[in-house]
Amino acid sequence: MKPADAGACPCGRLDAKRRPLNWNACCGRYVDHFSSAPAPDAESLMRSRYSAFVRERAGYLLATWAPSHRPVALDFEPGCQWLGLDVRAHRMLDGTHAEVEFIARSRLRGRATRLHERSRFVRAHDADGTARWFYVDGEIFE
Ligand SMILES: [Zn+2]
Repeated sequence: MKPADAGACPCGRLDAKRRPLNWNACCGRYVDHFSSAPAPDAESLMRSRYSAFVRERAGYLLATWAPSHRPVALDFEPGCQWLGLDVRAHRMLDGTHAEVEFIARSRLRGRATRLHERSRFVRAHDADGTARWFYVDGEIFE
């Protein structure tokens, strides 16, 4: 049986033939299977968090936030339309720290917005003992 086609992944990742990956083959693997399928690297986690913003999956966003920096709750801007993600750089700082620089574009009430951020990630064990990447915080470029 063919899995339900959930459409192209919002993060825009391409396969080896430069075709957009399907949700189930890309960020859906992590967002829909948080406990069994941790994102394998900081870029995959960053992409899956962008996709979780697009699909308003607050539970995933909070669970992948480093506990030391995790907000109590998360609100989505009503009417925000995400237009795309452009990952500029993925750099490992050491075995458990990485940075991902990206530009995320959105439109809110007719106005185009561009978020250019360098995010910091840490690899740590969660409460269940699973090693996974967490988003820590980010530096925003004007
Ligand atoms: Zn994706």
